[in-house]
Amino acid sequence: MGFWRNQLSGPTDPAADAAWDTHEPRKGFFTDTSICIGCKACEVACKEWNGIPEDGLDLLNQSYDNTGALGASTWRHVAFVEQTSDRIEQARESGRKLVSLGMPSVRSHDETALAGGGAAATATLTPPGELLPGAAAGPGPTDTPVPDVRWLMASDVCKHCTHAACLDVCPTGALFRTEFGTVVVQDDVCNGCGYCVAACPFGVIERRSGHEGHEKGPQSHGISIKGSGGPGGTGGTGATGNAGGGSHQNPSSHAETNGEVKNVGIAQKCTLCYDRLGAGQTPACAQACPTTSIKFGDLDEMRATARARVAQLHELGYSEARLYGVDENDGVGGTGSTFLLLDEPEVYGLPPDPRVTTADLPDMFRKAGYAGLTMLAMAAASFVGRRK
Ligand code: SF4
Ligand code: SF4
Ligand code: SF4
Repeated sequence: MGFWRNQLSGPTDPAADAAWDTHEPRKGFFTDTSICIGCKACEVACKEWNGIPEDGLDLLNQSYDNTGALGASTWRHVAFVEQTSDRIEQARESGRKLVSLGMPSVRSHDETALAGGGAAATATLTPPGELLPGAAAGPGPTDTPVPDVRWLMASDVCKHCTHAACLDVCPTGALFRTEFGTVVVQDDVCNGCGYCVAACPFGVIERRSGHEGHEKGPQSHGISIKGSGGPGGTGGTGATGNAGGGSHQNPSSHAETNGEVKNVGIAQKCTLCYDRLGAGQTPACAQACPTTSIKFGDLDEMRATARARVAQLHELGYSEARLYGVDENDGVGGTGSTFLLLDEPEVYGLPPDPRVTTADLPDMFRKAGYAGLTMLAMAAASFVGRRK
């Protein structure tokens, strides 16, 4: 039962579940928002590499944010959240409660080195429930002073969920699981039905709006699937050359030749730079980030780095630091994109308890079974009653 339950919502290896006989170690991001400076180089690099059209240059009257949210033409979005001391205090308070509840933390072999940021790789992970010495005692002597004001800056992206609702509901197979454990849309297979849009618990995927060929900006170049043996027989259906074979062309070059928008009506989202991964390269956004706020690598390594970093911040007095997406027993089986946040997820526009639609299937089937049995019992009872 445990195995089948994990096929619906628990911890699992998504690439193996997608029938990749041999596959790469699962790849993912660790976005450390505590060192993001809001430069938006990640947003720009993503647009540049993927040939995503501009989606408006309006000022939204929301701090320095002019893109607003993730969408069909914004695959990376840097949120700017201004906070005063009252809100920062609340963030610290909620963070302390999480620590007292037993957030995963680390105990370093060399505490001095950890405070300097150098011992993350040698830190020993402790399981949830086991606290760092003094962690449950509330604000410690090392709590940093609360500033009058601060900006939270966080670069959001597709979560590349372990159990991806967008992929589960897609009727055409346009969304597929790659050998890296990521989730990618094939532009030329998507029929624009929009089921994925409604299913995504994070509000990430969106159909591109506008009029085909009527808007300025570079055009999307579609997705090439490495090789021909991908799951579901969808390999090799991409619109352009195979980047894994080294034939990728930067889409912005041909965008300049016609300036048309493509894929109007088609579901669009971050591909975790599938073409670059196939060529052994780092995703464009992580490559461009000047502060290493966006880290990319094997997911296990990313999660270990995230746990080490949150423990380091706690020790430095930032009790508001917490992780998002690392819990494999959450509603989506954990995510491929892990985040370190400095306040509650809702503050960044993230759902606090995302759930994949399949997570509720066992409960729904059980309730339907009870209802069926009850009806049978009532029907049987009515016959027995008639005979008397
Ligand atoms: S965040 Fe949404 S779009 Fe991304 S993989 Fe998960 S369900 Fe799909
Ligand atoms: S991984 Fe690639 S597609 Fe995804 S946000 Fe980064 S640059 Fe954009
Ligand atoms: S490039 Fe890095 S530092 Fe700049 S906004 Fe993006 S995540 Fe933040």
